[in-house]
Formats: sequence, structure tokens, C-alpha cells
Amino acid sequence: MEKLAEGKTKIVYASNSPTEVILSFKDDITALDGEKHDILAGKGKMNAEITALLFTKLNEAAVPTHFIEMSDQVTMRVRKLTMIPIEVVLRNIAAGHFLVRLPYFKRGEKLRIPIVEFFLKDDAHHDPLLTEDHVLLMEHANEEEIAYIKRITHHVNETLSPFFAKRGLTLVDFKIEFGRDTEGNLRVGDELNADSMRLWDTQTGTIFDKDVYREGTDLNQVSKVYQDVHNRILAEVAA
Ligand code: 5GP
Repeated sequence: MEKLAEGKTKIVYASNSPTEVILSFKDDITALDGEKHDILAGKGKMNAEITALLFTKLNEAAVPTHFIEMSDQVTMRVRKLTMIPIEVVLRNIAAGHFLVRLPYFKRGEKLRIPIVEFFLKDDAHHDPLLTEDHVLLMEHANEEEIAYIKRITHHVNETLSPFFAKRGLTLVDFKIEFGRDTEGNLRVGDELNADSMRLWDTQTGTIFDKDVYREGTDLNQVSKVYQDVHNRILAEVAA
């Protein structure tokens, strides 16, 4: 297969179709803009399975995503997108960099309204925060597209928050990325799993996401958290 691109956690391969590509999930785990890097055996499979399940839920909820189907344990068929180099973050609860930027809130405080933030994908400059005007100025999206991206991001939150709540998990915040398919339609691309969201146990506040790796050194513990969150997300629960 012809390799089209390789990122920190995934490889993109060409497919036989001009409208599709193949996405393969790696076992790599990274943090601090790629400065911290390890291999976590089995992570690629777990993150691919979580992404496939969550994107299936989103597709069913009329959120357009790039996901088509899994082709093996770490590989999925997805629609080919031209990615917008912006991370779209939605926050329900104050955590992470939000508190560094706005120390007027307490960690764990529920935000009065879910908020959407934009960050430029640029590790060298630590993914700077962008206002909507910055996005317009840099011509990454027009006004209608920004409004659409915000609407879809809220819809992702409204779809996934109850999904996680049924599994005893609180969706604190998450990051998604958008791209344009070969017909020019915006779709959610990339991935959605414990690398790209904060999930806290609703009862105990225990962390079930990549913060365990960002803040810790014990890879066995990180591995256990990834397995636990995978099992909880994939568990069958009553509707
Ligand atoms: P924060 O801005 O607080 O660091 O992150 C907010 C949310 O976006 C968290 O759920 C975090 O996992 C996700 N996020 C932020 N930046 C990145 C990134 O560069 N890669 C990934 N995978 N997720 C990110």
C-alpha cells in the first residue's frame, strides 16, 4: 500500500478508490507536542475500536464523519478528506489548558454553557488558540463553515455525553478535527478516543484518558487505564 502520510499515532495509505483512504492506528503514545513518546502494546487496536464505535454512533446521529468501516483490527476505510489544520475543542467542565489560560475557574467546575475553542495545529508553536476572526483571516474556513463546525461540534457533545453517562463516565472535554471530502462537504475526520478526550468516572472522578500518561511515568498504569476505558466504552449497556 502506498503511504500518503504518517502522523504521531496513525498512518494514512492510498486505497483503490479515489474517494477513500486507509487509516492504520499505531501503538505509539505521545504528549507535550510530541516531546514525550512511548509505545503501548495494543493501543492501536483499542483506539481504532473506540474510534470506530464512536464514529458509528455519530454517523447514526447524522453527524457526518469520514468513517466507513473497519478492515482489520487496527485499520479502517475512511473517506478521503482534505484536513483543516485546526483542533476544535469542546469543554463541558474546566480542566487542562483552559485553567492555565483562565485561572478564574476551578478544576472540575461545570461550565455554565459548553464552549468551543479553536487551536491551530502547530506543535512548534504549541498549538496557539485562534479566535473565529483568526480562522477567517487565515482562510481556513469561511463564516458559514465556522458556524457549521460549531453546530456539529455541539451535536457531537450532545450525542456522546449521554453515551458516556450510561457507562458511568463524564465527558469533560474533547478535540475533533474537520476536513472536506472529495465533494467539498465538511466531515469530522481523524480519531476520537482516550487520546483526544477527557473522561472522568462520574462517581469517583478517576481519570480514564491520556492525562494519566501526560502526568505520569508508569507505563503499566497507563496501559491499564487504556484497557479499562476501552472495556467500559465497548461494554453493552441497557439503552
Ligand atoms: P487542553 O486544551 O486542555 O490541553 O485539551 C482539551 C481537550 O482536547 C482534551 O480532551 C485533550 O485530550 C484534547 N486535545 C488537545 N490538544 C490535543 C492534541 O494535540 N492531540 C489530541 N489527541 N488531543 C488534544
